[in-house]
Amino acid sequence: MPQHLETDVAIVGAGPTGLFAVFELGMLKLSSVLIDALAEVGGQCTALYPEKPIYDIPAHPAIEAGALITRLEEQIAPFATPRLLGRQVNGLSGQAGDFMLTTDQDDTIKAKAVVVAAGAGAFGPNRPPLDDLPAYEATGAVQYYVRRREDFRNKRVVIAGGGDSAVDWALALKDIARVSVVHRRPKFRAAPESAAQLDEAARRGEIEMVIPYQLHALQGSDGVLSAVVVATLDGETRALPADSLLPFFGLSMDLGPIAAWGMQQAMHHVTIDPATCQTSIPGIFAIGDVAAYPGKLKLILQGFSEAAVAAHAIFPIVHPGEALHFEYSTSKGVPG
Ligand code: FAD
Repeated sequence: MPQHLETDVAIVGAGPTGLFAVFELGMLKLSSVLIDALAEVGGQCTALYPEKPIYDIPAHPAIEAGALITRLEEQIAPFATPRLLGRQVNGLSGQAGDFMLTTDQDDTIKAKAVVVAAGAGAFGPNRPPLDDLPAYEATGAVQYYVRRREDFRNKRVVIAGGGDSAVDWALALKDIARVSVVHRRPKFRAAPESAAQLDEAARRGEIEMVIPYQLHALQGSDGVLSAVVVATLDGETRALPADSLLPFFGLSMDLGPIAAWGMQQAMHHVTIDPATCQTSIPGIFAIGDVAAYPGKLKLILQGFSEAAVAAHAIFPIVHPGEALHFEYSTSKGVPG
């Protein structure tokens, strides 16, 4: 059922930075609407690594990504911001003070300013070029994200890739599953400490290293996997008995429809002025992973800070001519 909403600020993307933008805008008494293509809020934290602890959120020595999103939802609850989930924003027209956004579900959102918190955009995994892949994806025999570690208990799991995700999940699953790691060369791109832990686990026989091999074929029927066939560059093949394959070849980044809005871009990111987080189009702001400027770090904490900067820069667009007096949250509390 299409919705037609009117608000001060439309936030495109309900990842951690889009969620925190609700708070920062709300603290300035600016209303907002959150829109996300996914069915749940939380962006990468919810979709890619809900059970992984994050160690660099200030004042949380360790917090699981899913728990961080739950805490953000608690923090923004007082603002009762409408959410349009499972809807991709595709169209944008108008100008600062009078924008109209449309979604693929025919919703319309009238807003005075727009915050693009679209992260990696319509992000998706890089898929290995294997025959019959969709049939195995459909049954979950091939997965690109570990949503629940327990799903792999007592399974034979083949992990492919040489980056952080491959190494971290090999280490996280080795105690509950039989894990083989397929990589095309002995050197891993993962953090040196994790790569060293992987070597140590392999030396103890807790993980089987299958090097230098690449994925070659899937064996099984009706989406039920029985083996993953791997091959060397010389064409020598081996079949690894397997129930699950986890290929970790990174995410492909695609800004999707946002790319056509005319904002200045650099390498699939939206260029912003870090003093305001405004893009090259007045009234449109970008924060979090999608935003690019010299010195940008793709960290959640930096996205949080950008949410505050953007909210203050948006205030005069919503309330032209009205002075904004900076106040600490300790002085004003949380407006209901
Ligand atoms: P995202 O989380 O990417 O959310 C963007 C949202 O926008 C998505 O939900 C997407 O569906 C939506 N969207 C995009 N386009 C549209 C559209 N057109 N219409 C509607 N919705 C749209 N960061 C840290 O700080 N510390 C860590 O320890 C850490 N560990 C990580 C571990 C892993 C495995 C991964 C993958 C990332 C990690 N990160 C970490 C990075 C962190 O998750 C990102 O920096 C953060 O998620 C960025 O938040 P965001 O809100 O900008 O974007």
